[in-house]
Amino acid sequence: MFDAGTATVVVVGAQWGDEGKGKLVDVLAERADLVVRYQGGANAGHTVVIGDTQFVLRQIPSGILHAGVVCLVGNGVVLDPETFFGELDQLAERGIDTAGRIFVSERAHLVLPYHKLLDAASDKSQKLGTTGRGIGPAYEDKYGRRGIRVTDLRRLDCARALLTERVERANRLLEMMGAGERASLEQHGALLERLAPRLLPLATDVGLLVHRAVREGKRVLLEGAQGSLLDVDHGTYPYVTSSNTTAGGAAVGAGIGPTLVHAVLGVVKAYTTRVGNGPLPTEAESPDEERLRQLGGEFGAVTGRPRRCGWFDATVVRYAARVNGLTGLAVTKLDVLDSFDRIPVCVGYELDGERCDQMPAEADALGRVRPVYERHEGWRAPTGAARRLADLPPAARRYLDRLEALSEVPVRYVSVGTRRDQIIEVSGG
Ligand code: GDP
Repeated sequence: MFDAGTATVVVVGAQWGDEGKGKLVDVLAERADLVVRYQGGANAGHTVVIGDTQFVLRQIPSGILHAGVVCLVGNGVVLDPETFFGELDQLAERGIDTAGRIFVSERAHLVLPYHKLLDAASDKSQKLGTTGRGIGPAYEDKYGRRGIRVTDLRRLDCARALLTERVERANRLLEMMGAGERASLEQHGALLERLAPRLLPLATDVGLLVHRAVREGKRVLLEGAQGSLLDVDHGTYPYVTSSNTTAGGAAVGAGIGPTLVHAVLGVVKAYTTRVGNGPLPTEAESPDEERLRQLGGEFGAVTGRPRRCGWFDATVVRYAARVNGLTGLAVTKLDVLDSFDRIPVCVGYELDGERCDQMPAEADALGRVRPVYERHEGWRAPTGAARRLADLPPAARRYLDRLEALSEVPVRYVSVGTRRDQIIEVSGG
């Protein structure tokens, strides 16, 4: 993706998340100098497999697994400091040196224990099927202008005053919700004191670092979490996450201007999955759904929850291509389809008896659509060893060609297994 005119690339999920962005970022990070996370919190779990070791990264950009790559957590992220330091410690235990390679935006908001208590007590979170890690309440505080940011730790006395107000407010809400637990001011105060000396040395103006890096001719990857259909504006509202997962969010959440974004790679599975509640038009029927889930290992990286599985939905990907301005596609998990005899692909919808080729704004309407399927012949052969398009069975190539035509975005990468080397780079990419 990087070339003379392309120094900054955004990697976004173009479905409902878990598309394998972690693996793509890991592969692309080899050629990058900086990797920036721009939104989300510790609810996103990227899984990267290197050799026999599996890393699940929630807060730290997966670029950290490449020596020499500098990783930044942008202002658009809500930072769960305990998870963050837990991850740093785990990386250290596995011999990965992160010193001088990880920085956090001083403008990022903190996810604190009271956010998690509020999340756990909220009926809404349960109805939406959130991960319950305090992300939603932390974003609510951000937009309600009562958040606590990394920079606030620089003046602990002020931070403590903020905290008193926030903890009292959280406890009033918890009482109203009928929750048994209460947030402890003492515990929160002690947490901030413990955090400050470790977090502040990493705190910086991330936007400025990215800006300077681009001016110096460095290569920057901007890494999204979740997927486009979970974007708070463009997703299947209200079954969405609390941030802008789409490429526009990359500029805002990293602290750079949109003109600094040169390319946008959309990651899609060769089929579709979704975690949590909300419409999924191409959800497969039994036993295909279980088969996709087992073959694809479709269980949440953070929660272990089984993912709902279905067929490739071209309406979703075309929509994601438009709202993100995708310049390339990475199709992952092609190998998961290796044993299927016939593979349906959704080419459009019928809504209330009429053809509908655009994404409806209402979740209810999306819940009512009937997918229009094409049925493709399976290739019934393993693809995991393919390293060039020419190594793939003809039926697999035809399948990819069709996904490309329907999505109206060129396929630049095809992933055929969990390992770093199991990737096909399409020439011109
Ligand atoms: P992310 O958040 O988008 O990075 O997605 P996850 O990490 O939650 O889910 C992707 C899962 O699919 C991980 O377990 C990856 O190891 C795995 N994966 C990624 N690419 C491929 C692929 O091409 N084939 C197979 N079989 N698994 C893959």
